[in-house]
Amino acid sequence: MSQNGIHALVGVAARKWAPQKEWLLIGVVLGSMAPDLDNLAVAYVTLTKGDAHALHRTFTHSFFTILAVLAAFYLIAMLTKNQKWNNLGIGLGIGILLHILLDLALWFNGVELLWPLGGELNFWAGFTPPAWLSVILDTGEFLAFGLYFLLLISLSRKHNTDSERQGSVKNLAYVEFALFVIFATLFLAKGSTGLPYTIYGALYLISLITALVITVKMKKTIELV
Ligand SMILES: [Zn+2]
Repeated sequence: MSQNGIHALVGVAARKWAPQKEWLLIGVVLGSMAPDLDNLAVAYVTLTKGDAHALHRTFTHSFFTILAVLAAFYLIAMLTKNQKWNNLGIGLGIGILLHILLDLALWFNGVELLWPLGGELNFWAGFTPPAWLSVILDTGEFLAFGLYFLLLISLSRKHNTDSERQGSVKNLAYVEFALFVIFATLFLAKGSTGLPYTIYGALYLISLITALVITVKMKKTIELV
C-alpha cells in the first residue's frame, strides 16, 4: 500500500492549479484518499477468513469507478439543481485518478485499472521489497497522516481558518508520529505478524477515517488557496 497521507498531500498540492470552484478542491483531496477505503473490505474479508489480498487496489482503483462517480454526482447535481455536487464529483474523479497514477508509480504493487475486466498493470512485477522496507512502508502510513495533519494546521494558520481545530489536529499528528515509532520498532524487532499486525491494521483504518473526517471539517482551509 502506498501511504494514504501522501495521497492527501498530493491532493492538497493540486490547489496550485485547480480552478476555483466550490467543492471542487475538497473533492480532489477526498478522491485522493478514498480509494484506500477498500482496506475496510479487506479487513472484513480477512476477519471472515476469505481471500482478502485479491481485493485491494481493485474496485476502488478502477477507471470505471471514476466514470461511475462522475455520472452519479452529475445526476445528483441535476436533481438538486445545485452545481456544487457536480464540482464535487469532478474533484473526486480527478482525485481518484491522481491516486491511481501515484499507486502505479510507487510502492511496488500493481493496480487493476480496468476492474472488473481484470488485467492488473504492475510496473513492479518480479520485485519483492525486503522485509524491513515493507515495515517502513506499512508503518509509514502513520507518519504520512501526521505530516498531512501538520500541513492542514500550517495552512489554517496562514489563512486564519478553522483556528478552533488547530489544537486537536496537532495532538492527532503527535499520536500518528508516536504510532509510527512504536509499530516500526515493534515490527522491525519482531516481524509484522499476529495480533500486533491486526492492531496495526485497525489503527490504520481508524487513522484513515479520521483523516477523511478532518478533511471535510477543515474544508474552508483546504479551499482557500
Ligand atoms: Zn491505493
